[in-house]
Amino acid sequence: MSQVHTPTYAANDEASVDIARLVSGLLEQSLEHADRDTINGTLHSVRSVRTWLDALEIRAARRVRQLHEAGRADSPVTTLIDNNGCSGRDARTTLDREGLCADMPLFEEALGGGCVGGAHLDAMTRATNGLSPDAKTAFASHQQRLLALASQMSPDAFERRCRDLARSIRAQLDAAAEADRISRQRSASNVRQWVDRPTGMGHTHLELDPERHAALWTTIEAHLASVRQRDGNSGRPFGELQVEAILELVSSGGSSATSGTGAGSSGRRIPEIEVLIDWQTLAEGVHDSTVCETVDGIPLPVQTVQRLCCEADVLPVVLRSTGEVLHVGRTARVATRAQRRALAALHRTCAHPHCSAAFSRCQIHHVVPWEQGGRTDLDNLIPLCTKHHHLVHEGGWLLELHDDRTITLTRPDGTRSFSGRTTDRLVAQSQSGQRSQRSQPGQRSH
Ligand SMILES: [Zn+2]
Ligand SMILES: [Zn+2]
Repeated sequence: MSQVHTPTYAANDEASVDIARLVSGLLEQSLEHADRDTINGTLHSVRSVRTWLDALEIRAARRVRQLHEAGRADSPVTTLIDNNGCSGRDARTTLDREGLCADMPLFEEALGGGCVGGAHLDAMTRATNGLSPDAKTAFASHQQRLLALASQMSPDAFERRCRDLARSIRAQLDAAAEADRISRQRSASNVRQWVDRPTGMGHTHLELDPERHAALWTTIEAHLASVRQRDGNSGRPFGELQVEAILELVSSGGSSATSGTGAGSSGRRIPEIEVLIDWQTLAEGVHDSTVCETVDGIPLPVQTVQRLCCEADVLPVVLRSTGEVLHVGRTARVATRAQRRALAALHRTCAHPHCSAAFSRCQIHHVVPWEQGGRTDLDNLIPLCTKHHHLVHEGGWLLELHDDRTITLTRPDGTRSFSGRTTDRLVAQSQSGQRSQRSQPGQRSH
């Protein structure tokens, strides 16, 4: 980003003449009695002049940086603040624009032309924030296409397209890191509480990964809706009712409100969270216009949504490529009570060979994913605890279930980790086992 770059910026006579003409037109303009077309034309000229000024500032910032590096000027931020009358934040924005133009010179050339402005550059900066250097290089390699989009789009719409592109690049380049992100977010989750001495108020700050945050707020909002319906609550402040709803959930629900999506222990399950995903992404993986996010627009890794599809409490809203809703809900997607009972008869614990998590804490995993045609049949279902469920979806491990109900576990590098039996309850030993055998004759090898 900080490489010195001298783009072939079109600050030639032609562009300068144009700007001079625009500015002199603006100087003569009187707006008091102007009609709509005149105002529109004026605003158009203002935009052209502004993008030209944006370009000028970028080149000034670049030169200041070079002078500063040579010990002949103050730092670029100081220089911009002192001489340009801008805030520190504006100064850093200008420097970000300069860095971006060094990587994407086509944008700098286009800046003087009036269609693309500094706001488009800022949109790209925000959208690529957090990308690895490799991913940023890959992003910059799309500059021609991005420029075509930017010249037809508002900065806001352009930013959404940039985010989509950034996400697909991240998924393609850095699949492991992307999958790992949600588990890092999970382990970085925390809660803090303190008392503010001057006011005496207690504060509780809960920092959560996007998946559990969405689940938590779905729960709170569902309960809040019923709290608001109660007599006498219509006039009470919203914040007070929200607190009441949260406290009621905490005191009545035990751990269920914070125990994670679908981590269905035997008791109450938290309500659905909605996830938006397009069909192609769900079935085949990330592509250029992937949609994969919570309803609030927080991006989720595709592997996470695929895992969520195994869990009863998540409602994927699957979109067709044209954007219409293709499928909502859980019909025939989640194991039925009877299937859960039959599986409980086969497995006391998580089916991972070295795991002792109780069956009641497990999620029912589709070995062949539902979205790839895997049926919700016993011979495609196996219980996994949260940790091992993450392992097979986000962790890149392959779990295969064979007709005799033995499994094969393959590590992400393709080597075999385990092959053998995982059912740990013999039919003859329990009532429920016999029930299972009756419901699924021919299922078992033991
Ligand atoms: Zn699963
Ligand atoms: Zn496990």
